[in-house]
Amino acid sequence: MSEPDVIVIGSGFGGSVAAARIAEAGFKVVVLERGPWRDTVPVRSMGIVRRSPLPRGRLLFTRLLRAIGGNRMPGSRLRLNSHGLFELFFGSGCTIACSSGVGGGSHVYSAINIRPLAPNYWDGHAPGVSDAIMSAHYDAVLERMDSTTPMADHRIPNTTPVRFRKHAKDIGPALPPPDPRIGFLLPDSPDEAPKKIVDAHGVERYEVDYKSNEDGFLGSPTGSKTTLDVVYLAPAMKQGLEVLDMAEVITITRQHQGPRYRVDYRDHHSGQIRSLTGEHVIVAAGTLNTLNILLRSRAQGGLSGMPMLGRRFGTNGDYFGYWDYNEQDVEQSVGLPTTGGVRVLDDPDCPVIGGGGLPAVDSYPLPGFLRQRMKRAYMIAGLGEDSMTGTVSLAHGKLKVEYDPDQSPIFAKLKATFAEIGRRTGHRVYAPKTPITVHPTGGACLGASIETGVVDANGEVFDHPGLYVADASALPRAPGGPPSMTIAAWADRLATRFIARHSPR
Ligand SMILES: Cc1cc2nc3c(=O)[nH]c(=O)nc-3n(C[C@H](O)[C@H](O)[C@H](O)COP(=O)(O)OP(=O)(O)OC[C@H]3O[C@@H](n4cnc5c(N)ncnc54)[C@H](O)[C@@H]3O)c2cc1C
Repeated sequence: MSEPDVIVIGSGFGGSVAAARIAEAGFKVVVLERGPWRDTVPVRSMGIVRRSPLPRGRLLFTRLLRAIGGNRMPGSRLRLNSHGLFELFFGSGCTIACSSGVGGGSHVYSAINIRPLAPNYWDGHAPGVSDAIMSAHYDAVLERMDSTTPMADHRIPNTTPVRFRKHAKDIGPALPPPDPRIGFLLPDSPDEAPKKIVDAHGVERYEVDYKSNEDGFLGSPTGSKTTLDVVYLAPAMKQGLEVLDMAEVITITRQHQGPRYRVDYRDHHSGQIRSLTGEHVIVAAGTLNTLNILLRSRAQGGLSGMPMLGRRFGTNGDYFGYWDYNEQDVEQSVGLPTTGGVRVLDDPDCPVIGGGGLPAVDSYPLPGFLRQRMKRAYMIAGLGEDSMTGTVSLAHGKLKVEYDPDQSPIFAKLKATFAEIGRRTGHRVYAPKTPITVHPTGGACLGASIETGVVDANGEVFDHPGLYVADASALPRAPGGPPSMTIAAWADRLATRFIARHSPR
């Protein structure tokens, strides 16, 4: 392979957006993604031969988890199955869940496509970045994600008022955020069979089938949920973007001769260690893994400096629970995977609470009565701005995450709200003592200088020209709501600045 202009590590919201934009501007870009292409209708229609099934049926046990790790686990992380969909890391004070596969978190997300809920989110962190500047990047990513504003005439079944009608005096729909958008192909009429849609690049997808309950956090086999492999990677691949799946980056080394960086990765197809070199490397492996790669590379002497690396780590205030909402006539698994959220009606300070039914329950290899019970349960998720006081470091070669939820008032409020919801409805919310986050942020934050951050307004690491961070680890603050559009907008900004400052060879 000839040397690329840009090597991108990871293909989630940061990696896919940055890679596609830069490749479409004429640069030679290679994406290294540790996970496989997922076996979905759109990926099949793209002609990708090596695809990996989503966890369904018996594969639920073997394909659900890629790896587990934690501060207290012996050794480094334990890889269970390199085709697995999720990775879990048990830190001190928080558990992190992230995903693996071409398209990253877009396969498992609930497709809520919104701007930050924290006011003036981008103002005041670094010269050259502000709410006014970032606004156009949100517009661009929302347009490319083909995000839809759910309207009454979409007739989405089983939204919050229907599901919780028995408790309508106490529990109602969450207040919609400004510009509420979702990333689903909604049918014109929910009564007809979902139609096949073929986009301008020949990629096939189906509209949502509200009854099939297939589109939640275990992936979207029909492609009705908008994923990054479809809207960003597929068009860019037609213009030369190269995506190497099952390619797990181990370290980055700054070279003194030849191209500036060497990236070593394990090719899980062959089991071999390979290398790529290039002048520009964009790290976008998701917060946990971006920090792991950068910290490990620095510990091994490949990189240096970055005094703020691993500082200001946060969880976006995520707090998950299992709401055992066991009402006989309510199937939480019908409709979209997210219901629009719930709110305790007479609490003016009620935090953001989302959620929905468990996905693909009919495929679980469990007794029928248990599946029926699970279809009535609601996965409840609270979130809000946390104070990002956590740290991520390497101790004796092992990744260590330290986070104290008590330093962020949002958790006390969420715990109290879950308890109140349980008390008023008579259906308890079971939540672990240690919060689980699916929105880890920070650790390689945007800042005004090397004393306050790891990357500058171009997304470039202060003391490493040509090295960039495009994912959630660069976010300077918790968005307070679902963060994927904020990560995508940051990557879009990074790509715009890169294209303006460099020329393709
Ligand atoms: C269950 C669930 C529901 C969610 N719902 C929503 C929602 O509705 N709205 C929303 O905005 N957000 C949602 N999120 C969060 C969203 O998915 C993440 O915030 C987002 O994906 C993070 O983007 P990223 O680019 O930082 O990382 P990711 O999207 O996680 O991408 C990182 C990629 O890098 C790859 N990678 C990791 N290590 C390596 C390595 N060493 N070498 C090569 N590749 C590597 C990973 O496999 C992955 O594909 C949800 C998350 C989960 C888990």
